[in-house]
Amino acid sequence: MTALQISPEHIWEALAGVPDPEIPVVSITDMGMVRDVQLDGKKATVTFTPTFSGCPALRVIAQSIEDAVKGLGVPEVEVRSTLTPPWTTDWINADARERLRQYGIAPPAPAGEGLITLEAEPTRCPRCGSLNVSMTASFGSTLCKRLYVCGNCKEPFEGFKSV
Ligand SMILES: [Zn+2]
Repeated sequence: MTALQISPEHIWEALAGVPDPEIPVVSITDMGMVRDVQLDGKKATVTFTPTFSGCPALRVIAQSIEDAVKGLGVPEVEVRSTLTPPWTTDWINADARERLRQYGIAPPAPAGEGLITLEAEPTRCPRCGSLNVSMTASFGSTLCKRLYVCGNCKEPFEGFKSV
C-alpha cells in the first residue's frame, strides 16, 4: 500500500474543471456547489450542494465529480449531496458572475443586499446593460432561471433567481 500522491487541493483543482451541466461556461466550483473535500487514505469524499432544488442535474453532477476525482487516481470516491445549508447565489464567485453575463445570463445580485422586496435585484439586460427590463415568466428553461425581455433592445434573456 503506497500513499496517494495527491492532496485535497488537487481534488479541488480537478473539480474546478467540471462544468456546470446547465451552464458550461462556469464550473461547479465557480458556482460554489462543492462544499467539502475529504481525503482519507485512498478514499475521497466530496460533498456538494446542488444549485437549485429544482435543477434536474444532480446525477450528472455526482457522476462528473466521481469521474474527475477518479481521473486523479483516487480508487474510491464517495459523492454526497447536501441541502443544508441551502445553496445561495452568494456562493457564485465574482469571475463566474462576469462569465455568466458574457454568456447572456444576467448574474444574480447578492442576496440580502439592501431592503428585501419581492424584486430586490436590479436585473440588467446582458446585451445592452439597460435596466428597462420586464419579467415575462417566473420560470425559464429550468426552475433556476427567469425569463425577461429588454425594453431597450427588445431581446429576451434569462436571468437567475436570487435565492
Ligand atoms: Zn437590452
